[in-house]
Amino acid sequence: MTDNNKWIYCPVCQSKTRIKIRKETELKFFPLFCPKCKEETVIHVKNENIHIVHGNVS
Ligand SMILES: [Zn+2]
Repeated sequence: MTDNNKWIYCPVCQSKTRIKIRKETELKFFPLFCPKCKEETVIHVKNENIHIVHGNVS
């Protein structure tokens, strides 16, 4: 079986996070936590495209 999963990379430090997505995955306002730089970035994911949500959404 081919690997349909794809790691999400941290938009801050470009490190691989522990989050995987599939091409069908859709996320909205997902708090992506980076274990390396400890930054949390809120993202949307659709069609394997990652869109960073800017601004404070908490
Ligand atoms: Zn990072």
